[in-house]
Amino acid sequence: MKIHINGVQKTYSTLRKKTEVLKNINITVEDREFFVLLGPSGCGKSTLLNIIAGLEPMTGGELRFGDRLVASVNKKDFVQPKERNVAMVFQNYALYPHLTVFENIAFPLRIARAGAEEIKSGVEKSAEILKISGHLQSKPAELSGGERQRVAIARAIVRRPDVLLFDEPLSNLDAQLRTATRVELKKLQRELGITTVYVTHDQVEAMTLGDRVAVLKDGLVQQLDTAIGLYERPANRFVAQFIGFPQINLFETEVKNGAFSLCGTDFPAPAQAPSGPVWAGIRPSDLELNDAGPLSGRVDTIELLGRDAVLYVSCGQLEFAILSERKDFREGDAVKFSLKQGKAHCFPR
Ligand code: ADP
Repeated sequence: MKIHINGVQKTYSTLRKKTEVLKNINITVEDREFFVLLGPSGCGKSTLLNIIAGLEPMTGGELRFGDRLVASVNKKDFVQPKERNVAMVFQNYALYPHLTVFENIAFPLRIARAGAEEIKSGVEKSAEILKISGHLQSKPAELSGGERQRVAIARAIVRRPDVLLFDEPLSNLDAQLRTATRVELKKLQRELGITTVYVTHDQVEAMTLGDRVAVLKDGLVQQLDTAIGLYERPANRFVAQFIGFPQINLFETEVKNGAFSLCGTDFPAPAQAPSGPVWAGIRPSDLELNDAGPLSGRVDTIELLGRDAVLYVSCGQLEFAILSERKDFREGDAVKFSLKQGKAHCFPR
């Protein structure tokens, strides 16, 4: 199912003030795509997801599932959530505590007045896919966080929805389980082939799960691209800083005659860079320790990441984070380094 989000706006109005949460959102989610909405807390991700689900009305624009108009500013266009054939998974699982796992998963089928046989086979199939068949008679309170989230996902897929919506579903899991569940979720989505919109503030989650990612801030899509596209060609300073770990180095400088200067050394600016005051952005992985220089500095701090280390190196007034496979440094060591060719970004200041 293709989702068209056309010029969607959302303003919350109270007596005291108006909050423009979504200013003008245009996104087309492709059929079977795993689409991620990424942004800092409060940027309107959940609001947009709720609009897709039909849990919130919009104040501008329109929403289409395929050719079908499901919402616009006109109340008469509004298709009720249960008639949209979407399923949603929340961060807090939202299971019914008094019902067994079986009945929790069966719930959407019972609402749809499915027969006993269909319910039994539907629940068993979903439970099998999510590897929770052994827990069907348990109550949610008897399960771990990871198992509860599997129940919530099993419930979401039991009616084979056209669209799956996830609102920060892994945030309540510990780091290890989060990584494992992430991998499984990606596999599951591929197997089911259901168009998916996934909300997260976690860039690693977004990058690993999303076929494409829309980065949201200030009520607008800052950039819509593949994970690699966001990383290699950030559209602005915000996206450059939000994506990538360790964070990109950003320095105030100026582009003159197609070059910018750092620590007294000139570097060629990217072809499309604006002239004048810019932020030069350099990823820590695009700096190389290199006895030939041209940059030199002293190691302030070393952060061990496992296979790699991040060296924080000061060079005059600037501090560079450099990702290095070499870890045999000490604080105060003198190092020389260079910038990989064609890897600098420049954003207007
Ligand atoms: P996110 O999911 O990106 O963290 P939300 O979509 O939950 O952000 O919220 C976006 C903004 O909208 C927040 O500033 C929030 O305070 C505001 N907001 C959300 N719901 C309401 C509401 N019912 N009334 C007024 N403001 C709201």
